[in-house]
Amino acid sequence: MTKTQQKDTKPKCGLCGKSKKLIKTDCCNNWICNDNDQYVLFSYARNSCWRNHDRYTVCSFHHQNEHKGKWLDCKKCLNSFDTEDYVDMATNEYNFEKLKNPPSFEPTLCAECGRVIVRAEEGFTMVPKKGYVCEDCSPIPYY
Ligand SMILES: [Zn+2]
Ligand SMILES: [Zn+2]
Ligand SMILES: [Zn+2]
Ligand SMILES: [Zn+2]
Repeated sequence: MTKTQQKDTKPKCGLCGKSKKLIKTDCCNNWICNDNDQYVLFSYARNSCWRNHDRYTVCSFHHQNEHKGKWLDCKKCLNSFDTEDYVDMATNEYNFEKLKNPPSFEPTLCAECGRVIVRAEEGFTMVPKKGYVCEDCSPIPYY
């Protein structure tokens, strides 16, 4: 703490605004809830700020893979995912800084019934030689 820093600005989680049990992210040096210990194994719950940022953002992926520069202009990150997944990971609510002009992408259509699958929000299955199949048409039960 130096004198030039503002007084009474308690650090807050950049995602949810809570100010208890904070930790700084390795990837982008932002305050975030250190709530990974509350995560119930295999529950797939998305209630941990730290975990969400760690698992579901390009920011963290970029850092973990030791790319250079900012993730926002990183072509390696862009090329590491399908565009739809990339856009979700770059603009979802687990980001401190969201990608301003996300690239456009062709919507994913179910290979069975043809409806649009919103991959960030619903279940789908990747069927070999067929493509993406929505939850309803999925041959394997989706959990
Ligand atoms: Zn939080
Ligand atoms: Zn980050
Ligand atoms: Zn990158
Ligand atoms: Zn379908």
